[in-house]
Amino acid sequence: MASENNGKHQVVVVGSGFGGLFSTKSLKRSDVEVTMVAKTTHHLFQPLLYQVATGILSQGEIAPPTREVLAGQKNAQVLLGTVTDVDLEARTVRHHVLGRETVTHYDTLIVAAGASQSYFGNDHFAEFAPGMKSIDDALELRGRIFGAFEMAENAAARGEPTDHLMTFVVVGAGPTGVEMAGQIAEMAHKTLRKDFRSIDTRKARIILLDAAPQVLPPFGAKLGAKAKRELEKIGVEVQLGAMVVAMDERGLEVKDKDGTTRRIDSVAKVWAAGVQANPLSKTLSEQSGAPLDRAGRISVNPDLTLPGYPEVFVLGDMISLDNLPGVAQVAIQGAKYAAKEIDNRLKNKAPQPPFKYFDKGSMAIISKFRAVASVGKLKLNGSLAWLMWLAVHLIYLTGFKNRISALLSWAITFIGNDRSERTVTEQQIFARLALEKIEGTTRLVSAPGEFDAAMEAKRAELEEKAAEETRLTDQGKRGVHVDA
Ligand SMILES: Cc1cc2nc3c(=O)[nH]c(=O)nc-3n(C[C@H](O)[C@H](O)[C@H](O)COP(=O)(O)OP(=O)(O)OC[C@H]3O[C@@H](n4cnc5c(N)ncnc54)[C@H](O)[C@@H]3O)c2cc1C
Repeated sequence: MASENNGKHQVVVVGSGFGGLFSTKSLKRSDVEVTMVAKTTHHLFQPLLYQVATGILSQGEIAPPTREVLAGQKNAQVLLGTVTDVDLEARTVRHHVLGRETVTHYDTLIVAAGASQSYFGNDHFAEFAPGMKSIDDALELRGRIFGAFEMAENAAARGEPTDHLMTFVVVGAGPTGVEMAGQIAEMAHKTLRKDFRSIDTRKARIILLDAAPQVLPPFGAKLGAKAKRELEKIGVEVQLGAMVVAMDERGLEVKDKDGTTRRIDSVAKVWAAGVQANPLSKTLSEQSGAPLDRAGRISVNPDLTLPGYPEVFVLGDMISLDNLPGVAQVAIQGAKYAAKEIDNRLKNKAPQPPFKYFDKGSMAIISKFRAVASVGKLKLNGSLAWLMWLAVHLIYLTGFKNRISALLSWAITFIGNDRSERTVTEQQIFARLALEKIEGTTRLVSAPGEFDAAMEAKRAELEEKAAEETRLTDQGKRGVHVDA
C-alpha cells in the first residue's frame, strides 16, 4: 500500500464539503498523507445559504477557509482545483485551476464532489432563476432580491407599474424553498417596510410553487400541511400542483394540474427544485461500470466503495445506496466510516460491517421563532422546533468564531427584525452571466508562458523608465528650465 512518492499512504479527497472535510479531519491520526482538492477555497455550510441570500448572515459566517480549518492538521494539504478526470487504472486525479493542470497520484481516493442544481432538462431557466448551491448563487440572489425592490422604487417614482418587480417566485417547496420564501416574506413585511418612499414593501407578493401536491414531502403529510399554514400566515402564497413550463427575464409560465397555463410576472425568481449529482459520478461510472440513477448518483457497495475499486470511496450527495437522502448527515457519517475503513486497512484490521446511516431528523425554519422538525416519530412545529433548529445549527457550524458571529447576526434579525448583510453590488447580480458569455474565467488570464514573455518586455520598459528618472534627479534637471 505504499505510495510512489514518499512512502506514506496517499489519500486524495475530492471536495471540501461535508464529505470531504469530515473524511479529511477523521484521518488526522492515521498514518497517511491527505491531499484535498476542491474547487473552492472554503467549506460551505449549504443549509444556511438562504440566510446569506436574504441578508441575515455574511458569506464568511457559513464558509470558513478550508485551509484555516485544517491548519492544525499536519498530515493534510489543500489544493485549489476543479477535478476534471479520474483515471481509475493509473490511480490519478487530474485537476485544473485557471487553465493550469495538475495530476495527483493516490493510493486511496475519496470522491465527495456533491451535487448541482437540476432544472429538469430546462437548463436555460438558470439564466433567469439562479439555484442555491454556492456562495456565488446566494450573493447573486441577494443582489437580485434587494435589487428588485430598488428597481420597484424607481419605477414607482416614475409612475410606472411595479407588480413584476414586487412579485418574488420561489420554485420548489422543499426545505430550501420553504426557508427562502419565508425569509423573503419577513424581509418585505418587516425589515424593509420603513426604508422606501414610493413603494410599500408589505404589498410584495411572495409565491412558493411546486409541481408536487404538498409542501416539505420528506416531513410527512401532517407537518407539511402545518408548514403550509404557517407560510400562508406570514403572507406567502403557496401554489401546489403547479409546474413551471417556461421562463424569461420578466416572468414565468406555470401549468396547473387541470391543464391550464398561466403567466406570473416576476423579475426575481429562485430555483430551489431538484438536484443532479456531480458529473464526476459519470466519469467513475464509465470506467467502473457502476450504474447511475436518474439523478446521476452512482451505485456504490455497502462499504461505500466503487464496485471493482476497493481503493475508491464515494460519499454524500453523489451516491445511490439504500434510498439514502441527500442530506449533510449522510455525507458526514459516510466520511467517518470511510476514514475508519482506510485506517483499519493500514493496520490490517478486519473490515467494518456495511455502512449504516443513523437518521438524526430534519428541520426547516419558516419564520421568526417558527420551524418544523421531524426527528424519528417526534414531529414538532412552532417555537420548540425553532429552538432545536438554533441549537443544531450552532453545533454544526464550523469554527468557534463563526458560531459567535452567526449568533450575533441571528440576534439582530430575530430579535430586532434587521439584517446586517444587505450590501449588494452590480457584479454580484451580473458576474455569473457575464462570465458565461466570455466562456469562463480562464479567458481572463494568460496561458502559462505567455505571461512570462509579456512580463520580460514590460521589464525592459520599466528599467529604461527608472534609469531616466534617476538620471533626471542625479543631474539636478528637475524644475530647471532649459531653453530649446
Ligand atoms: C440550499 C441547501 C440547503 C440544504 N439544507 C440542508 C439541511 O437543512 N439539512 C441537511 O442535512 N442537508 C441540507 N442540504 C444538503 C446538504 O448540504 C448536502 O447533502 C451535503 O452538502 C452533501 O455533502 P457532500 O460532501 O456530498 O457535498 P457538498 O457539501 O456539496 O460538497 C461538495 C464539494 O465538492 C466540491 N466540488 C464539486 N465539484 C468538484 C470538482 N469537480 N473538483 C473539485 N471539487 C469539486 C465543491 O466545491 C464542494 O466543496 C442542503 C443543501 C442545499 C444546497
